[in-house]
Formats: sequence, C-alpha cells, structure tokens
Amino acid sequence: MREEREAPHDGVPASALFEDGVGLSYDDFILLPGYIDFHASEVSLETQLTRGIRLKRPLVSAPMDTVSESDMAIGLALQGGIGILHYNNTIEEQAAMVRRVKRFENGFISDPVALSPDHRVTDVDHIKRTLGFSGIPITEDGTLQSRLVGIVTNRDIDFEKDRTRLLREVMTTDLVTAPKGVTLSEANKILKRSKKGKLPVIDDEGRLAALVSRNDLVKNKDFPEASKDSRKQLLAGAAVSTREEERGRIDSVVAAGADVLVIDAAQGHSRFEIDTVRYIKERYPHVEVIAGNIVSLGQCDALIRAGADGLRIGMGPGSICITQNMMAVGRAQASAVYRCARYAREHGVPVVADGGIRGIGHIAKALAIGACTVMLGSLLAGTAESPGEYLYENGVRVKQYRGMASLEAMSAGGGKRYLVEGDGIQVPQGVAGTVVDKGSLTDYIPYLAKGVSQAFQDMGVRSVTEAHEALYSGRLRFERRTAAAQEEGSVHSLVSYREPRWGIR
Ligand code: IMP
Repeated sequence: MREEREAPHDGVPASALFEDGVGLSYDDFILLPGYIDFHASEVSLETQLTRGIRLKRPLVSAPMDTVSESDMAIGLALQGGIGILHYNNTIEEQAAMVRRVKRFENGFISDPVALSPDHRVTDVDHIKRTLGFSGIPITEDGTLQSRLVGIVTNRDIDFEKDRTRLLREVMTTDLVTAPKGVTLSEANKILKRSKKGKLPVIDDEGRLAALVSRNDLVKNKDFPEASKDSRKQLLAGAAVSTREEERGRIDSVVAAGADVLVIDAAQGHSRFEIDTVRYIKERYPHVEVIAGNIVSLGQCDALIRAGADGLRIGMGPGSICITQNMMAVGRAQASAVYRCARYAREHGVPVVADGGIRGIGHIAKALAIGACTVMLGSLLAGTAESPGEYLYENGVRVKQYRGMASLEAMSAGGGKRYLVEGDGIQVPQGVAGTVVDKGSLTDYIPYLAKGVSQAFQDMGVRSVTEAHEALYSGRLRFERRTAAAQEEGSVHSLVSYREPRWGIR
C-alpha cells in the first residue's frame, strides 16, 4: 500500500506573504510549482464574474474609450469573456452600443450600411473607400427601417463610367432574400445556391433586418466558449456613473439589455456609490452590479452591504494611471487583490482584479491570489476590435490608448469617474499614449487563455475554483522576490533578442 506522506513544506502560504504593512505588486512574488497529473488542455478557466454571471474565461475589458465599444464587447463575449462598454459618450450612444452587442448574431450583420435609390454611384465609392464594404443594400429611404428595393454590388458598377448616376438606374432588383429568423446554416445554403455575394434578410413587411456576407461565412468560426444569456444573446456590460443626473443612463442601458453594470468610480467608497448600488438593485434586481474601485476591507464591507454582486479592485496600478502619485492614495495591486478577494469570498462576492496586468503571468497570479476575473485595459487596447485607427510611431504600428482621467479624455467628457467638478480646473490622474498593434482578438484571446492554462498546470491546479481552494488551504506556496530575483527571472545577459509578438510576460 502506498504510504500517504505530507509533502515537506516549502515557501509560505499567501496569508504569510501578504502580511500587513507591506504592499506587494504582482512582480514582488512568485508561486512555487505544484504537482502535475493532467494536461493543460484539461484546465478550466470558468469563473464567476458576479454572484449571478458565470464566464468561460476570466477576461473583462476595461470601460475606457480607447478599449471598449461594441466591437470589443462582441469579440470578447464570443471568446468567453465580457466587455464593459464605456460611457464617455451620450446616453443614446452607449445604449446603441449595448443593443449592438445584444443583437449580434454570429455571421449576421445586424446593422448593414444601406443607401436609397436616390443616392449615386459616388456614394457607393465613398463607402467602399472608407469602410471597405462592397455590397450595399438599397432601401426605400436608405435606412434599415424601410423596405428593401435592391442591392448594389461591384458587378453593377465596376464598368460604370458615369459615377454620378443614380443607384435606382444601376441597382439589381432581382433579389434573393431570406426571411428574418433564418438560421446561419440555412442562410449559408441559400447563398451557395444563389451564387451571390450577399444575402439580405428581411422581415414580414419586406424591411431590411440584416445582411449575410459570403466572405464572412468563409471566415466564420464557431465560438463554443461564447458568453451568452438565457436567450442565447451575447452578454454585455456597461459602465455607469455615481452622479444623480446620470440616472437616466442606468435606465437606458438596462432597457437596451445590459446584463451587468459597472459603477465606474476611481474611489468607490462614497455615499454616491452606495446610493447608486441601491438605486440599481431596487429598480433592477435582475441586473448584476459590480461596484468599485476599491482596495481595502472597509471599502469592501460598505459596498457588499449596499448590495454589490461583484467588486472591482484596483486604485493606481493601471498602465496609464498616475493616481497614486497625484492623490497619495491607493494600494499595491497584489495586496489589494488578495486582501479584498479573501474578504469578499466570505460573503460570496467575486472580485475583478483591475489594472496593472501586463500579460499572462500577471493574469495567472491575479487569479491565484483570489481574483475571479481580470480587467484589462492596455492589453486589449491596440487590438483590431479596440476603437481608433492604427498609426505608425517610429516605424511601429500602434493605436492610441488613454486614461479616462487624462486631460485628453476628460475634455471629451471622461472625468465622470473622478468626481471632477465643472470649475474649469482639471487635475489629471491619467496620461494618453499609444500601445502596439496586437492583431485580432480571434488569435489573441485563445493565446492568453492557453498561457494561463499552462501557468495553472505548473501550479498544479486544474481550475480557478481549485486554485482558490489551494490558495486558502495553504497548498499554493509563495515566495517574495527581491529585486535581484526579479531581474534573474527576466531576460538578461543577451546583447540582443527578439521579443515574441505578444510580449514576454
Ligand atoms: P491597465 O490594464 O493597466 O491599462 O489598466 C486599466 C485600468 O486603469 C482601468 O480599468 C481603470 O481602472 C484604470 N484607469 C482608466 N483610466 C485611468 C486614469 O486616467 N487614471 C487612473 N486609472 C485609470
């Protein structure tokens, strides 16, 4: 019979690592390896975002105007995470973004660009140049609410010399359409039979409801991890403010279908925040609320008592953030995450580790010290799905990324999370900069997820749940890292080397 033996103890449990009085960041510690008797592909990253929302992957996008609009929220939800739509915009704009995410159906373009018969060939040229679309449905008045009367594709206008001609004279009116409610595989079959490039989907009254594109079908992938509600619509989150005059925003994004609201305040321990949690939970008990940002136990306690379904942890670690220097408050992020997560767990409330995540290693560490999800700003900025155009900086393809309390974002309305008052004087708590092009989420998210699964395998834990059990039982063992140990653990002693595409963390 095998003798049951306790492994000799080495390293320290997290409770000893995060002793009072010293703030640690992710780089200040390392996990000791565990025992592996499973493959990385068996690791489950399923986790709770809030009391009521479960995700397949623990990734949340930051509600920032250079990170999270509908393309990000759709792309991330398809990959098992969730996007939190920013609110540096009008209420109508934010609600429209929520609706786009909720209406999204894989393979269907739910808000195709349409023109009217009275537009001209030059208008199609313009759309082609600026948006890259070539098949344009033509409706009676050029909007989605009116009847479909034709379609203009390259074949209709390629050889047209007179670009001022009206579309009614060149459009194809012999249309192959599909009825609203058609499944993607049915649409696929119709497209194949018709040999056309585009398939308009119309409702009972002949109004344009969506468009299916042959090119998209070819590219189309299945997303088995997708985060969906009970009606099979993608999950969407929306940031809201604590300001009383912004209550209408809460009502509008909930009406648009938001599943979770993130109350976005840089310092979440306030009367305004507590009132906002209560307002939402009283009016919309079915909507989940993540409150924050907070870093200490007193703050956790106040927001949990107010009724929060999740907590957002972080004050100052963000890549674009200068809060700790400017405001003299905050907390080193790993300490904040560990302490708040442990406290919130006793109350059944999951926490989001927000800010300061520089790559796979940091995601794995945040989860290993108690976070249920991580919120990413700089990591997701610079992807194809983040807002903004690519530009070149010293030969590197980049996108803009800015703090919501940078002077640039504040002058566009982004100071709402900072209790900024309208006296004209602005003290920034963030900066604006650029981040490198990371390509599409389609490749990037699976890469991050695989990396975290491999890190979990090295720790000897098969899931987020098991990681947390091992954390609190003391099975996960940690060690502080000196500055020399951190240097040793990074690339060193080389004259030159090539960084892999997505960095070395
Ligand atoms: P990152 O992932 O390190 O880039 O951090 C993103 C996080 O930084 C966001 O989720 C916010 O919590 C925080 N943040 C966003 N804008 C600002 C700012 O202007 N100042 C300080 N923190 C910010």
